Formats: sequence, C-alpha cells, structure tokens
Amino acid sequence: MIIIYILVQKLDDKTKREWELHVSNKELPTLQQLYTFLEHRCNALESVSTKPKTNEQKQFSDRKMSHSYVSVKLTCEVCKGSHTVSQCNTFKQLSNDERYKIVKDNKLH
Ligand SMILES: [Zn+2]
Repeated sequence: MIIIYILVQKLDDKTKREWELHVSNKELPTLQQLYTFLEHRCNALESVSTKPKTNEQKQFSDRKMSHSYVSVKLTCEVCKGSHTVSQCNTFKQLSNDERYKIVKDNKLH
C-alpha cells in the first residue's frame, strides 16, 4: 500500500482531497481503486479542458495587383538626392573621369 501512498502524494491537492473523500470510511484502498479513481478523474479533467478545435483555414485572398502601381521615386545615384543625375549639382561639379566612373558603375547610359 506504500505505492498508493506515494502516488497520492504526487497528486495535486484537489485530486488528493477527492481521493481522500473517495476512500474515507472505507477499508484500505487498493491500487485498483486508485487507478479507477484516477481514470475517472482524468476523464473528468479532459472533458473540461477539451476545447472545440477551430478549423483554421488559411485563406489566401487573391488580392488583385492591377490597381497597385509602382511609384517612381527619383533618386540621384551620385548624392542620393531626389533628382536625376543630370540635374545633380554634385554631378556637374565632378570631373569627366569621375562622371564617367559613376555613369559606368550605375549603368546610367
Ligand atoms: Zn544628386
């Protein structure tokens, strides 16, 4: 009966109290009684904790891209300003070699 004692000690307080009520005024509980009790106890807990499973269906909305448009943002490759390279003062002040290099690097032909 030591096994029962050990097992009962591992139960949570509420279950332990119910077990004590369950076996009170009776003869020494058998292991089978404990198993039966725990089985019912587990079933009760499961029925309480079981939640209806929600079917999460990931719906991919086929959003139409036709209305979206790419906003053309002017970005200067030389100074990253909001203008074209041909309008860039920094670019104008560069030497021909430097201009050529930038144009070549950024493929601004
Ligand atoms: Zn610029």
